[in-house]
Amino acid sequence: MTEGVRTSSHLDPLGALRRTHACGAIDPGAIGREVVVAGWVHSRRDHGGLIFVDLRDRDGLVQIVFRPELAAEAHARAGDLRSEFVVIARGVVERRSPETVNPKLPTGEVEVAVHELRVLNTATPPPFAIEEDAGAEETVRLRHRLHDLRRPPAQRALRVRHALYQSARATLAEHGFLEIETPILAKATPEGARDFLVPSRLQPGEFYALPQSPQIMKQLLMIAGFDRYFQIARCFRDEDLRADRQLEFTQIDFEMSFVGVEEVLAVLEDLTVRAWRDTVGVDLPRPFPRLSYGEAMARYGSDKPDVRVLLELVDLTDVFRATEFRAFGAAVAKGGVVKCLPIHDGDALTRGEIDRLESFVKKELGAKGLAWVRVQADGTWQSPIAKFLSDAERAAIAARSGARPGSVLFFAADDFAKPNAILGRLRTDLGRQLGRVDDRAWAPLFVVEFPVFERGEDGKLTFMHMPFVAPVEEDLALFDTHPEAMRGTHYDVVMNGLELGSGSLRNHRSDVQRKIFEILGYAKAEMEERFGFMLNALDAGAPPHGGFAFGLDRMAMLLAGAESLRDVIAFPKTQRGQDPLMGAPSTVDAQQLDELRLRIAPAPKERTP
Ligand code: ASP
Repeated sequence: MTEGVRTSSHLDPLGALRRTHACGAIDPGAIGREVVVAGWVHSRRDHGGLIFVDLRDRDGLVQIVFRPELAAEAHARAGDLRSEFVVIARGVVERRSPETVNPKLPTGEVEVAVHELRVLNTATPPPFAIEEDAGAEETVRLRHRLHDLRRPPAQRALRVRHALYQSARATLAEHGFLEIETPILAKATPEGARDFLVPSRLQPGEFYALPQSPQIMKQLLMIAGFDRYFQIARCFRDEDLRADRQLEFTQIDFEMSFVGVEEVLAVLEDLTVRAWRDTVGVDLPRPFPRLSYGEAMARYGSDKPDVRVLLELVDLTDVFRATEFRAFGAAVAKGGVVKCLPIHDGDALTRGEIDRLESFVKKELGAKGLAWVRVQADGTWQSPIAKFLSDAERAAIAARSGARPGSVLFFAADDFAKPNAILGRLRTDLGRQLGRVDDRAWAPLFVVEFPVFERGEDGKLTFMHMPFVAPVEEDLALFDTHPEAMRGTHYDVVMNGLELGSGSLRNHRSDVQRKIFEILGYAKAEMEERFGFMLNALDAGAPPHGGFAFGLDRMAMLLAGAESLRDVIAFPKTQRGQDPLMGAPSTVDAQQLDELRLRIAPAPKERTP
């Protein structure tokens, strides 16, 4: 530094030191060079006068060494260093002696001999090891999320997530999409989950709803003439949390005008392929195979099948139309299905294993039981149900399932959903357990041609996905005669048995949209109150349009090889919807409630009659 020139370095916490290298970036190429590294003290070892510190930043670890004869002051200070202290150090890169080379560390051939050390901050002791495996329960890790995030798996996961954002943005921008934000303080949207409400202070007694998705807003943007929109959008659904859900989650949301299904699928395929290439360097095979919803349910019992599992279901409904066997006959009579999962060469499925599967499907999937047949070496059927079956039924089952000595057949009969859910789940569990899987790491596919409506448990028609999905044009005539047979323009992208996202063409004509609301049972007044502005917007000159939303968290989870969505979200909520780090949700003070003109009612059970 030139004498007499005033600099402000004495005002900086770093003094005159400025980082030259990331810790993880120091390699033998830097030997002999002076470097400045900064980070957290990962560990410290004192060795008879020498002090070794592993210094960590987001790029990795490097060993820095303090020798009393080289820098007495730095060496003295190094004696006080503790785990997670924050330091900056200047030194010279040296080759480690052969016996101290650490082949496990990318920087393991070198170390930095420190000349100058500045301790930038002390730190409380970490609650668990800042290592690949923290050796701590998830609840503990989430409470100490700060330290958890310092661990390599979290650092990697959030990098993958970052790469995914950048990849999606680049793809969509290249396809001509404009990135446009839509409000978080919004009005209820139609996905059908419970809304999060935010009380309005300026309009007492009124509430905003946090968007369950930008669905309505993106459609309005199409009507407003933006042609192609996208957003990495935060969405909110007040649901009971299951393993793969979060109350707030992120979608790669987009919408495009003047397109049919094919053009949307082309964008979906491109975005997915590039995302896999840009984050994990994998080239997915194109084009993605397509399955209709009907075929997916028939063969796999799921609309998001993992097609790497080689087992398939067969449908036996027609075999049991006039059966004497009550359990199956009753299901068919009420419009349900009888399905079978055949497993050939099923010797590994012992009687004990079958009993275990039966209690699993009873407990977890609400099955009444699990009927089964084992075809023995001599061709006879060992089975609790065989005696109820006619010869013709046995012959039909054998023909359709390909049963042969060694086969085990599982059956389920009920309304459409349950047998598919039960056998679909057994298919994947047993397929994986028995190694009946192909060797593809990734199996993307499109599922298309979902029905517009399905029957709810109350027997009424509800929407299959959401109420804005357009029916396919040639099925519009079925509105008045057979609405449940109407095919929708809905499509999903599925990867390895997980739904990456959903989309559809939308109703751009208000008469079609009104008809759908009518079938869904909305009275005129309610339709106007909830969706009037949307219907008016459609009348203002809506172009045909369609779009999609990828679940970004789920994609990041797959790409990062993580087990839970929580692993790829910086500050996730627990199963109980809490953020244990910040302590959210929390009570608020009386004055805030007064301003909002809100009062907290006692919990229902405490209420006096
Ligand atoms: N808005 C829909 C959802 O969140 C996705 C879409 O159809 O674009 O499920």
